Amino acid sequence: MLYGTNRAAAGAAVVPIGGVTPFSTLDCPGRISAVFYFQGCPFRCPYCHNAEFQPVNPPAYPMSDFTDFLRERKGFLETIVFSGGEPLLFPEALDELTGLVLHNGFEAALHTSGFRPGVLKNYAADFPLKWVGIDLKAAPEDYPAATGIEGNYFEKTAESIRILKDAGIPFEVRTTIFPALLEREKLESLVESARNLGINQTVWQVYSLGGRPDPRVKAGIIEFIRDGKLEPFIQVR
Ligand code: SF4
Repeated sequence: MLYGTNRAAAGAAVVPIGGVTPFSTLDCPGRISAVFYFQGCPFRCPYCHNAEFQPVNPPAYPMSDFTDFLRERKGFLETIVFSGGEPLLFPEALDELTGLVLHNGFEAALHTSGFRPGVLKNYAADFPLKWVGIDLKAAPEDYPAATGIEGNYFEKTAESIRILKDAGIPFEVRTTIFPALLEREKLESLVESARNLGINQTVWQVYSLGGRPDPRVKAGIIEFIRDGKLEPFIQVR
């Protein structure tokens, strides 16, 4: 059940989940987790590794599948991570699933672009979140290129980061460095933007090429960090 891509709805109460990773130690720090991927994203990042979750398709899975999934994993998994796609695109389903997760004794965590701070604010007020991974995709002037759409969502993301800080929720800010971002001025502007948001440490993920970190991008990042003595501020993944 559940794993892989969508299948036809089997009941009335369906949720827009496109796939599940049933076991992960990488998606929420220090926790044994499963990942539920929402089916749909407003962005078209040129480096996206979850492109199959970009289109907004009709909801596919009955809630009962998730009830069963959670019941079968009590005492084994600690955390359910909502990822995507973009969970904040689906506030009602996110609320419903989070309620189910917490009711069954699991923790809830979130991966998001932070594109809807209002939704995030309500969500964070309504549910005790274990952890959030939020994407700061680029400096303001590079945001449209990094998200692959015309609108500029830098300020929305900045607002979401402030919300997480104010709410005292543990979070990690991460950026995927892809070839078009690999210019000294752009990286310096990104560092300045993160610092202006009061972030103490950020994670830079190396763009993948054929399933492996692009060696040119990785070398460029390492050189940039070394030259700027930015080791304490930037963690490379
Ligand atoms: S926000 Fe995430 S899921 Fe959406 S297009 Fe960008 S990388 Fe892909």
